[in-house]
Amino acid sequence: MNNPVFHGYYADKRWAVAGGSGFLGSHLCDALIAQGSEVIVLDNYCTSKPANIEHLLNHPSFKLRQCDIRHPFALPEVDGVFNLACPASPQQYQKDPIFTLMTSVQGTFNILEWVKEKNIPLLHTSTSEVYGMPVTKIQDETYWGNVNPIGIRSCYDEGKRCAETLCFDYSRHHDVNAKVVRIFNTYGPKMQIDDGRVVSNFIVQAITGQDITVYGDGKQTRCFCYVDDMIDGIMRAMAAEKFDGPVNLGNRDEYTMLDLAQVILNLVGSQAQIRFGPLPQDDPLHRQPHLSRAETQLHWQPTTALKDGLLKTINYFRGVLPLK
Ligand code: UDP
Repeated sequence: MNNPVFHGYYADKRWAVAGGSGFLGSHLCDALIAQGSEVIVLDNYCTSKPANIEHLLNHPSFKLRQCDIRHPFALPEVDGVFNLACPASPQQYQKDPIFTLMTSVQGTFNILEWVKEKNIPLLHTSTSEVYGMPVTKIQDETYWGNVNPIGIRSCYDEGKRCAETLCFDYSRHHDVNAKVVRIFNTYGPKMQIDDGRVVSNFIVQAITGQDITVYGDGKQTRCFCYVDDMIDGIMRAMAAEKFDGPVNLGNRDEYTMLDLAQVILNLVGSQAQIRFGPLPQDDPLHRQPHLSRAETQLHWQPTTALKDGLLKTINYFRGVLPLK
């Protein structure tokens, strides 16, 4: 129950979680309630499923407001807001790019107006995508990024960059306490089967015996953070007395997509074959977080090894995939 690292910060508080029925949001709701907080979820179910939060619907500390943050909204009193509302998988956020961009920009604007009026803190979840196609091997928060402003990923990348700009301008001009964390690739139970991201795709393919779809030559890299570590980092950021953002959150162990495919095939015990496909436009060739800000400011670093996190995720998918 009470995690000592939060020093009781989350006891008897009430939070709004925008995007609270999504993959990360639903884990955050569980963790906040476990720490003694109440939660009000704002969600339009654009990429999430109500099933993620079904177990909380009758919980006395949980409320759900179906709402789209692109439009102005009003809510009862809360102690702060977590903004996780935005499609985050390339396949999903490219389906309706204008919706994605406006959710980031107009949605974050609406939330900032609200937290300004109520004088409450905002924890805004940004993304490693603000670094675009990085020219640095490891991305620290001072790196400005290398983003194509008109490509198929820009609706997300530029939307998230603009949302960061809004957070910092509201901090400078309106004294809003807006804390920005940049989330690197995160995986775990409750990812959608059809999410389209690499970890869920490979696991679902390995379990069901379909070909493993590796894009490009599979030598591009990512670092994968287990969801429990990420939620811990997000909660430390909100609870931190001193916070000088943006702060990267992720895992620094770097894997090629071919390595990842092999690890998942071994853990699942699958004979599925690898099938190569085209590398999507502007797909970053490498990505690795510099974590010194998270370490010094939040005393945080990820602790879950990839294999351990993958095993939990594989177990989850085995439970939700329809039996063949
Ligand atoms: N990828 C892949 N096969 C898939 C899905 C993704 O090889 O079935 C690759 C993708 O091209 C990218 C990496 O895996 O290089 C991570 O993709 P993901 O969509 O998970 O997230 P991203 O980090 O690109 O936002």
